[in-house]
Amino acid sequence: MSPPPPPSSSAAMIPVGEALRIVLSVAKRLDPVTVPLHDAPGHVLAEDVRAPDPLPPYRASIKDGYAVVASDGPGEYPVVTESRAGNDGVGVVITPGSVAYVTTGGPVPDGADAVVQVEDTEEVTDTLNGLKRVRILTRITEGHDIRNVGCDIEKDAIVLKSGEHVGCPEVGLLATVGVTTVKVYPRPTVAVLSTGDELVQPATQTLCRGQIRDSNRAMLLAAARQQQCKIIDLGIAKDNEESLNEILDVAISSGIDILLTSGGVSMGDKDFVKPCLAKKGTIYFEKVLMKPGKPLTFAQITPKAKETQCSKTVLAFGLPGNPVSCMVGFNLFVIPTIRHLSAWSNPQLQRVQARIRQPIRTDLHRPEFHRATLRWELDDGSGMPGYIAESTGQQMSSRLLSMKSANALLELSATGNMLTTGTSVPAILISDISNFPLIKLPDRLVPLAYTPTPIASQEAKVKVAILTVSDTVSSGAGPDRSGPRAISVVNSLSERLGGANVVATAVVPDEKNKIKDVLKKWSDFDKIDLILTLGGTGFTPRDVTPEATKSVIEKETPGLLFVMLQESLKVTPFAMLSRAAAGIRGSTLIINMPGNPNAVAECMEALIPALKHALRQIKGDKREKHPRHIPHGESQPADEWDRSLKAASTNKDCSCS
Ligand code: AMP
Ligand code: MG
Repeated sequence: MSPPPPPSSSAAMIPVGEALRIVLSVAKRLDPVTVPLHDAPGHVLAEDVRAPDPLPPYRASIKDGYAVVASDGPGEYPVVTESRAGNDGVGVVITPGSVAYVTTGGPVPDGADAVVQVEDTEEVTDTLNGLKRVRILTRITEGHDIRNVGCDIEKDAIVLKSGEHVGCPEVGLLATVGVTTVKVYPRPTVAVLSTGDELVQPATQTLCRGQIRDSNRAMLLAAARQQQCKIIDLGIAKDNEESLNEILDVAISSGIDILLTSGGVSMGDKDFVKPCLAKKGTIYFEKVLMKPGKPLTFAQITPKAKETQCSKTVLAFGLPGNPVSCMVGFNLFVIPTIRHLSAWSNPQLQRVQARIRQPIRTDLHRPEFHRATLRWELDDGSGMPGYIAESTGQQMSSRLLSMKSANALLELSATGNMLTTGTSVPAILISDISNFPLIKLPDRLVPLAYTPTPIASQEAKVKVAILTVSDTVSSGAGPDRSGPRAISVVNSLSERLGGANVVATAVVPDEKNKIKDVLKKWSDFDKIDLILTLGGTGFTPRDVTPEATKSVIEKETPGLLFVMLQESLKVTPFAMLSRAAAGIRGSTLIINMPGNPNAVAECMEALIPALKHALRQIKGDKREKHPRHIPHGESQPADEWDRSLKAASTNKDCSCS
């Protein structure tokens, strides 16, 4: 592809894809070099490699055993020779009625056409004419347990092709075919310069006012090294055009392939990187439509022949000074460039789809590369396995902590919309996938998750899960007040519920299917004892929690609803507008609670006298019987209730259960 002409106005903001296309069309793969085998991994081969001889070069035994003439069949045979790996059976030919001892990898003597493994033979103690004898116990077919000549690699076969990536198995293959040095495309040499009057060396102990330690240089050098590049540390340049020019001239003429500067590409009166690059070469773009990293600048510099012996073209990236922008720019542009120069056929970073774990508001003007940690979940919220993306938090471009443990950049289009939890977005992988955290068992509750939190192996006697149903909370437009309140109510009633613990929480929008999915997963898969849903039981068009609940329960439990209604009516006549449902699915009791945080406490308090008993009954526990009938309106403290339950459990006359 011929490089594009430099744009007439390089100051225009160009989309990331377009910017990368320009970079990759300007960059040219490096000339191959010859390296010893141990340096080859990570490189792309620049030549085809052929096998000069076959493997195995002789017929080799697959087992320790006896080389035989297959048609001889079972019987006793003299062992006429031995052929161990590395030691041929010295020209002895096996004729029918004789066998040879062979070890794994040893040459099968001529005349023999099969190998019988030791396990299928018996030693014969007496010898005949001084020869050992062996009893063959099984009948085998011709060719059995023999690797024929060239069965692994044929003579003259191409074992590796130019363009293939060399890893450790490939090094093994090269060694197998007798190659000790190999032609590969080298990794580029990358020089890194930090710019800024405020920067001091990282070793500086005491910072004066206005100073910060230079983080970008160490970070970029490490990043380039991680890409197996040779690196050159150009130090820190002051915000001074002459000194910047001098440093760049020396760097450019020293045979580097890539120049990385950080800082000095914005609109400040001391941002001299762009004018310096413009003097030395061609600037292709100086603003990219991305967040973070807008002022990223790319130029191509060809040293003038008169000034230097070196005429190597240098690709220069003026990365922004803010450390996150700098690192995002490195990932999005420099890594593909390094790969392209190193002859990767697809230099692009890999993308996967991931569901976001928190609501994220997108930028209105620029596509955002939101830092996130991906992990693989057995259920990504859709009922199927997939990646879940956890935001690294505050995304300011100065906050390098947002880059820490990020293994992906979520590519969020500029819509200005709020992406709800569970939305699937493209995620650009920025670290080796083998480092990825796998399914995470929660060490804390994640109340703002649409994806049901996986259940930890907590020692809860009664496992409770709380599902907040709310468009507002789910979209991130408002906090979840009911969820945390319900957790504390359950905790405070834990003992009276027989040792209850909240082991999972989730938030879903007022959508029937999403509610159903969570209820089904919690009941059927996680075996939750008690699920409390919060909200969505009223008269508004979006209220569908009762419908979702009714569609999953197998038995209704109207008594619980009656008690809750009674209790709530004492507080407000609006309680009559509750359409709550409750019932049993499998061994799980599901109860719709109101969305109001205070109402949750009132309803739970009202249910508590019978809830523990109910949960035991659902589990099939018939030992406890109903206590004597308590007349309506007669209140009874829970302890007393428990005592009466115990008393009742010994009352043989009571038959109701
Ligand atoms: P600049 O692009 O030079 O305007 O810098 C933007 C921001 O990044 C400023 O707050 C700088 O102090 C900061 N910055 C620039 N270079 C570095 C660096 N090498 N290490 C850490 N922060 C930097
Ligand atoms: Mg600066």
